[in-house]
Amino acid sequence: MKNIAVIGAGTMGNGIAHTFAQSGFQVQLIDISQDSLDRGMATIAKNLDRMVAKEKISEDDKKTTLANITTYTDITAGVEYASLVVEAATENVNLKLKIFRQLDEATADDTILATNTSSISITQIAAVTSRPDKVIGMHFMNPVPIMKLVEIIRGYNTSDAVTETIMDLSKKLGKTPTEVNDYPGFVANRILMPMINEAVETLYNGVAGVKEIDTVMKLGMAHPMGPLQLADFIGLDVCLSILNVMHDGFKNPKYAPCPLLVNMVMAGKLGVKSGEGFYDYSESRKAENVAKMFA
Ligand code: NAD
Repeated sequence: MKNIAVIGAGTMGNGIAHTFAQSGFQVQLIDISQDSLDRGMATIAKNLDRMVAKEKISEDDKKTTLANITTYTDITAGVEYASLVVEAATENVNLKLKIFRQLDEATADDTILATNTSSISITQIAAVTSRPDKVIGMHFMNPVPIMKLVEIIRGYNTSDAVTETIMDLSKKLGKTPTEVNDYPGFVANRILMPMINEAVETLYNGVAGVKEIDTVMKLGMAHPMGPLQLADFIGLDVCLSILNVMHDGFKNPKYAPCPLLVNMVMAGKLGVKSGEGFYDYSESRKAENVAKMFA
């Protein structure tokens, strides 16, 4: 495998492109929004600068990594030579089905089609393609260049050979792939999202304030980040979509999103990416509050 296409240049897509490019792959990074591509490339450059400053990579490594990435705004222009496509567009089932129909048309028959979805059924996505055996979940964690885990999700029809290829490839990226089956939320979000939702519910019920809830979980449970900080980091819209997928998929009220989370998303308070969530990330406060997440 030499050519990898990544669909979506947002929070996850730019991290996935960065990780493949740094491992020597040629990456086609594709987004419908030129603005997202520009911001994605700027984020990759900034993250590489940080690695150079920490002497983890050289200035030459940075230049090579950036040179390995080409950007496109048209899906069909960037994917035709890809051995693997990793889709990391917005968490919306209809959008993903549309993208996979397009990818099925625009790529070679043996191209593996992976999705970074947090919760949507791999089997459902695979069913709109002519190659369900070659569709697989490749769920990277945020921030991708740093986090070791890749949750590898086998759809109902994903072949053993494709699973093995993607497990091996993840190891080549320096990651630890872990194989799971295809049920809503898989493993990571099935366990994480109810905790985040409960933290929002605890705030909504007035049990404690934002900082207090995060402090209890950080210092009391040794979590590296509080659940409300983590929700801001993931994106509140992404958290809401995942909860909705699990709520619909299991028909179990325990996954029903807290009304406060729903309201915040409707109000455009999406966390770090929109400048405000449970914390303030406006220009003057962003650096301070993002630094606190990792303190
Ligand atoms: P995001 O909102 O930051 O970025 C989504 C990007 O997709 C945007 O740049 C948007 O312009 C682009 N896009 C929308 N429609 C497109 C299309 N038709 N073709 C190409 N690009 C298109 O979202 P994100 O947080 O990066 O999430 C992306 C995926 O990764 C989702 O499936 C999400 O569930 C998953 N994920 C997110 C996290 C997280 O922490 N945010 C973690 C793991 C997995």
